[in-house]
Amino acid sequence: MRFFGRWWYMSSKLIEWEALVKEIADCRKCSISFMRKNPVPGEGNLDAEVMFIGEAPGAREDEMGRPFVGAAGNLLTKMIEEIGLRREDVFIGNVLKCRPPGNRDPTDEEVNNCLPFLIRQIKLIQPRIIVTLGRFSAKVIAELAGLRFRGITRERGNVREIILFDRRVIFLPTYHPAAALYRPPLLEDLKSDFNKLKEILERKGVEAKRKGTLDEYF
Ligand code: URA
Repeated sequence: MRFFGRWWYMSSKLIEWEALVKEIADCRKCSISFMRKNPVPGEGNLDAEVMFIGEAPGAREDEMGRPFVGAAGNLLTKMIEEIGLRREDVFIGNVLKCRPPGNRDPTDEEVNNCLPFLIRQIKLIQPRIIVTLGRFSAKVIAELAGLRFRGITRERGNVREIILFDRRVIFLPTYHPAAALYRPPLLEDLKSDFNKLKEILERKGVEAKRKGTLDEYF
């Protein structure tokens, strides 16, 4: 019965995910949906404890239909692996699912149009920890949690527990990996934020052993 329950839960999650991917592919709310090569819904473990949220697909992501597979993605993958995780363990997504041409900033209208998809992804995956990459996604998550966003320089590395859709979530905003590629001094901050993530996960593991289940940690 327990096995059946878990199987049912997993497959209903997968069905919902696939429906969401199709809706994203069919969405034509913004003009950029007509310019993209592929939508980039995001990818990873639907039961991930950690969800990374970037800004919008770039050229490589648009070609592949996958998030963070260009130069910034290589750095992100490296950082994930350096703290002992694999890409398959986490979920990686973006605020926008279509590439803004010329990698321009997303407009408010595009963010508002795409936000319902991100909200559904968060509700579906139910991550324990959300790591935002760059100012756009940090602002979006802060505002969804009813917080004032004071700019990425002030907020980065600031670990907070927030309430997001009635669930407690650890929120860790950090720099976008592309920013660290263009401005190498930011790389140290990015690394230090990933080490904070590692500490949170380790603490969580220790607590889970002590208390019995991971769920009780939160
Ligand atoms: N930058 C982002 O914000 N997201 C990607 O998927 C790639 C680059």
